[in-house]
Amino acid sequence: MNAESVDWGRLQKALSVEAQRGFTDVVGSQYRFSEFIQISLKNSPANLVSADIRRWQTLAAEYGRYPELTLEQRQNLLGDTRRFLLDMERVCTTTRTAANSASKQYQVVEKTEPSPARSLSTPPLNSNRSSSQISLNQALSQVSGIGSRNADKLAKLGLYTVYDLLYNFPRDHIDYARQVNIKELEAGETVTIIGTVKRCDCFSSPRNKKLTILNIVLKDSTGQIKLCRFFAGRQSNRGWQEIQKRLYPTGAIVAASGLVKSSKYGLSLDNPQLEVLDESGTIESLNVGRVVPVYALTEGITADIVRKGVQSVIPHVGLLGDPLPDSLRSRYELIPLQEAVSQIHFPRDRDILEIARRRLVFDEFFYLQLGLLHRRQGLRETQTGAVLSGKGKVINQFYKLLPFKLTNAQQRVIAEILEDLQKPKPMNRLVQGDVGAGKTIVAVVAILAAIQAGYQAAFMAPTEVLAEQHYKKLVSWFNLLHLPVELLTGSTKAAKRKQILPQLETGELPVLVGTHALIQDPVNFHKLGLIVIDEQHRFGVGQRAKLQQKGEDPHVLTMTATPIPRTLALTLHGDLDVSQIDELPPGRQAIQTTIFSGKERTHAYDLIKREVVQGRQIYVVLPLVEESEKLDLKSAIEEYQRLQEVIFPEFKVGLLHGRMSSAEKEEAIGLFRDGHTQILVSTTVVEVGVDVPNASVMLIENAERFGLSQLHQLRGRVGRGADKSYCILMTHPKATADARQRLNVMEQSQDGFLIAEMDMRLRGPGEVMGMRQSGVPDFVLASLVEDKEILILARDAAEKVINKDPTLERWPVLKSELDKRYQKLLGGAILT
Ligand code: ADP
Ligand code: MG
Repeated sequence: MNAESVDWGRLQKALSVEAQRGFTDVVGSQYRFSEFIQISLKNSPANLVSADIRRWQTLAAEYGRYPELTLEQRQNLLGDTRRFLLDMERVCTTTRTAANSASKQYQVVEKTEPSPARSLSTPPLNSNRSSSQISLNQALSQVSGIGSRNADKLAKLGLYTVYDLLYNFPRDHIDYARQVNIKELEAGETVTIIGTVKRCDCFSSPRNKKLTILNIVLKDSTGQIKLCRFFAGRQSNRGWQEIQKRLYPTGAIVAASGLVKSSKYGLSLDNPQLEVLDESGTIESLNVGRVVPVYALTEGITADIVRKGVQSVIPHVGLLGDPLPDSLRSRYELIPLQEAVSQIHFPRDRDILEIARRRLVFDEFFYLQLGLLHRRQGLRETQTGAVLSGKGKVINQFYKLLPFKLTNAQQRVIAEILEDLQKPKPMNRLVQGDVGAGKTIVAVVAILAAIQAGYQAAFMAPTEVLAEQHYKKLVSWFNLLHLPVELLTGSTKAAKRKQILPQLETGELPVLVGTHALIQDPVNFHKLGLIVIDEQHRFGVGQRAKLQQKGEDPHVLTMTATPIPRTLALTLHGDLDVSQIDELPPGRQAIQTTIFSGKERTHAYDLIKREVVQGRQIYVVLPLVEESEKLDLKSAIEEYQRLQEVIFPEFKVGLLHGRMSSAEKEEAIGLFRDGHTQILVSTTVVEVGVDVPNASVMLIENAERFGLSQLHQLRGRVGRGADKSYCILMTHPKATADARQRLNVMEQSQDGFLIAEMDMRLRGPGEVMGMRQSGVPDFVLASLVEDKEILILARDAAEKVINKDPTLERWPVLKSELDKRYQKLLGGAILT
């Protein structure tokens, strides 16, 4: 079956008929309702992602049991099915019509996908039954005040049930307190104006008969302004237009709120929110208070439909109950859920809106933290890890080999790791440390502890360059300790693989370093006790899990050099123990960072010459032009030639880019590492982990195109030795003032955490992680930038709950709310 042959409309129709007939498994001319759905869902459209196909199949199977389900379960199942099908329809039609936006849609779908088990296993929500028969899962068409036509419209927004609508929080509010005189308006401001209607006209657009235009001229004591609202669709008939005109008769007092636009005809408000006020100038009853909600809308659905819909379900808000125990609520000074939900929609004033928001943001963070901690607890219950002692000859020998003393931070983190390893529960620890903090050594100590205890270790890095570098370091130490170590990457020769793999299976080979190649099928360990993953954020959760499955609950040590703000760390790694290497080895000098524009290029080259003459080495990094890899390559090669032939003919310049084979890359890096080339022109492939201590200048072209965290990473390639190092941020002459200001942060700070925090403020959490599937949860209200304090409180609360009652047995209502919300928050990204 392909997308074309799924009759979405018919499926939805069947589902809504069943809901309207009270979930009675309606008997049709050929089939019962449940049979019809089962047959219709037999084959999923061909172009779905696997998670959706699985979901599709689970749903079909659930209808096999439909006759046995309780009313509540039937309602749940129907709601889930309708939402899911709507999403799928969107995905299928977008894939066909606009291939480029399809991937976005997939993400959306994965994120909103409810857990297959949810509809059947979730106990009914705590409900203080209101006098009417309404339940949270009630179809909106059955709620008084919402007709079936409006219910159909709301369905287009994915809103089917009372619960959906209550939790459809506004994306903004109109504040009638922000009232401005017409004379004072300025383009670009969002304002509310109140005035009397001087003229109102409503007509079909002369150019597009389907478009209806409502023009109102509004005046106050200071001036007048034109408001335009546009209506697309059926409204083009005269009768409807007459009604509109009558809504805004001359002399009526109207509040209009929206963005002020400037055009050649002067200022105007386009598609403002309009409210007719009564004669005293107060707002009509629908919009309680002076702060009015603004909802996300789609075509054909007006703000009024959603607002009226919400207004109709608010009386049932009591059904939500409050899963949060009173003790927590009072401890963290939170208002009851019911009040928060009704006030977020129709706040009495700005202050209560803030208070309501605080409660709901707390909930979003709290259930995520509770889920993460609960999961960690669950894993600890069931898993047993190898007991690896940190005391032993090999580790002591290794310490003696080191030409330097470990920093205090390194010692502390090593101690934390060794303590974990000695417990019979598998370690799950993340080591965070700025570039150059010396994480590799920490990993090596853990690896040695595993070997000492007779176990094997795997060390996985995201790029071949990095894997090779780790391998080389390990070889240099392990040779002296008489321990074999091998490297396995995509470009390992077949003969070498043939030699390595059996040694791994017999246990003869204790350590294997490599890339993703480690998680492939023929790689089998004899007794894998520890896995180390460097630059862990570059791996998906699925890849990590795959490596874990190569042993029996091995200890897991993940490392990252990308400092991330604490808020992000908590949301992404809330189920891990975190160690910080918050100290650089002694003698490191601050890297002198300077922003240069095009004109100062010669200064930069002079500096480079001086440094090379003194025996130092230089990186020149070019930005990735994402649209075209070919273009990247061309610009990298051109720059390389220009530097070699025109600027630095007396030095040897090397070239490194992503399109080279691994052998070529390794050769280019090798030549640089050994000092044969003095200047290395590179694309961003050097970003992660490359360690050449003799390099002293990092010149970054078009620095304004990089994120701050990435610049910090790149800068970390220099300053690895004891001598002074430089980072030159070359900006394009056309770089905006904003961009340059952003770069100032780099001039002023070397603190990776501070830089990451700024980066997150400027670019948002997803971008900071630099990946599409970064696993940053999809919060509705909460912001990792603005709501840090609330997150810390929520974490604290979740810890208290889990410490008291690890399995949540004593808090069944909380547990069921958690089941309901947690997976939704984590979305598809984490549940690979
Ligand atoms: P990162 O944390 O970025 O992975 P590395 O482990 O690559 O850092 O270490 C960076 C450099 O610092 C390496 O050359 C390493 O040998 C050196 N180094 C590590 N620890 C110390 C220390 N305690 N004192 C001096 N140099 C150290
Ligand atoms: Mg490293």
